[in-house]
Parts: sequence; C-alpha cells; structure tokens
Amino acid sequence: MESQHSSNNPTLEENIKAIFKNVRDAAEKSGRSFEDVTILAATKTQDTATINRAIAAGITHIGENRVQELTEKYEGYDKAHAKVEFIGHLQVNKVKYVADKAERIQSVDSLRLAEEIEKQCAKISKKMNVLVEINIGRETAKNGIFLEDAERFLKDLSSFEHISVDGLMCIPPICENRETLMRYFNTLYKEFLDIRAKKIDNINMDILSMGMSGDYCEAILCGANVVRLGTAIFGARKKLED
Ligand SMILES: *Cc1c(COP(=O)(O)O)cnc(C)c1O
Repeated sequence: MESQHSSNNPTLEENIKAIFKNVRDAAEKSGRSFEDVTILAATKTQDTATINRAIAAGITHIGENRVQELTEKYEGYDKAHAKVEFIGHLQVNKVKYVADKAERIQSVDSLRLAEEIEKQCAKISKKMNVLVEINIGRETAKNGIFLEDAERFLKDLSSFEHISVDGLMCIPPICENRETLMRYFNTLYKEFLDIRAKKIDNINMDILSMGMSGDYCEAILCGANVVRLGTAIFGARKKLED
C-alpha cells in the first residue's frame, strides 16, 4: 500500500497520541492538567517534512540541539503552529546564528555564553528567553551549572537587558533505577521552588524542563512542566556522526 505521508514513519501520529495520554495521566497524578505541561519535540536528525507532520499532529514546540541543523531546517518549519527553541550545548561563537531564530535557549550554562547572547540580542533588539541548564549529577561529561552555584549565576544573569530567565533545565545522569532518577528530578524541583520563593529581580521561575523519552512520566510526577521528546515521537534515530 502506498503511504500518503511525506516521510516513512507510519507511527508518528500514534506515538504522539500515546504520549498525550501518558502526559495527561502523569499531569493529573501530580495535581495538574494536560495543559500545564508542554511537550517539546527534540527534532535532531529529523527532516522538516517529518517535523511538520508532528506539528500537524499537535506538537506546539520543537527543539534543535545542533546549530547547523537549526539553520538548515529553519525555513522549512511550520513556524505558524510551533515555537522553535534551542536545547543543546551552544558554543559562544555560534550564538549569532541562533539569536534571531530561537524563541528560547534552554541550555545557558556559562556566563560567557550569556554575555554573547546579550550582545547578539542587543544588536537585533530582541529579548531572549532562556533556561539555565543545571548539571544535576555533577557529571564531568555534561554541561551545566552546579546546583550550589545556581543562585549566584542567576543573580549574575539578572542584570542582562536582553535576557529573560524563565526557568531551569537538566539532563540527569543515566540511573539504574527509578528511585535514583526521581531523586535527581525532585532535587531540581525543590531548587526551582526555592529560587522562585527568593523573587530575584528579573528572574522568573515558571519553566522546569526535565524528562526525555525514557523518563518523561517520572519527570512530570516530580514537577516538570516541559518534557523534551525525541525517540518517543519519531522512533529510533540514525546515529549522528560527530
Ligand atoms: C535528543 C535530546 C532530547 C530527547 O532525547 P530522547 O531520548 O530521544 O527523547 C532531549 N533533550 C536534549 C537536549 C536532546 O538533545
């Protein structure tokens, strides 16, 4: 039978439907509703036809983690129906390619990066929404600010005129059990609430981005309100070579 789809993933719509149900269940279990949680599609390696199919199926936010993919695909996204965010590690010298395109940078992990975002966004008179990436497992292989440095870092960011901090994100370590994983998620949720209670000038704590394909239900149960899903939506990725 010939497929009417522009790409060869017949289950994408079914995947999204199942995810919506899981998100609704987890949100309700944590005293919230489906609408309180944003499902962001992590679109690395996917072409724009596939991405736009996901958008047609109800995805409202997409996130790229590589600058080259963002710039190559940017024209093709259905931007009338989805917001484009940047979710990967961002090199300082590449901020200029992202500043005009992303509606949010989820992965601010150094003052040097924030300074460059400030500089590039000042040029185009844009206020960039950002999340601060927390290295919740203190892993040397991962980027992000350590928990104990988060408040100091946020205070440093509060003075930037073209940056609006609206929350935190994390990628926890690979855990052998659910309990350990949820301990990381709970720790970040507590920090999120603590910082919110401090009402730091120009720092909002509205968004907590944690949870990926393997653990988004747990993340929502622990307070996440943005989950970033790749394989759960699109299926297994071809391996990236870099
Ligand atoms: C790829 C990616 C995800 C999604 O990963 P999956 O396990 O495929 O859901 C989430 N966040 C970031 C930063 C990513 O690069």
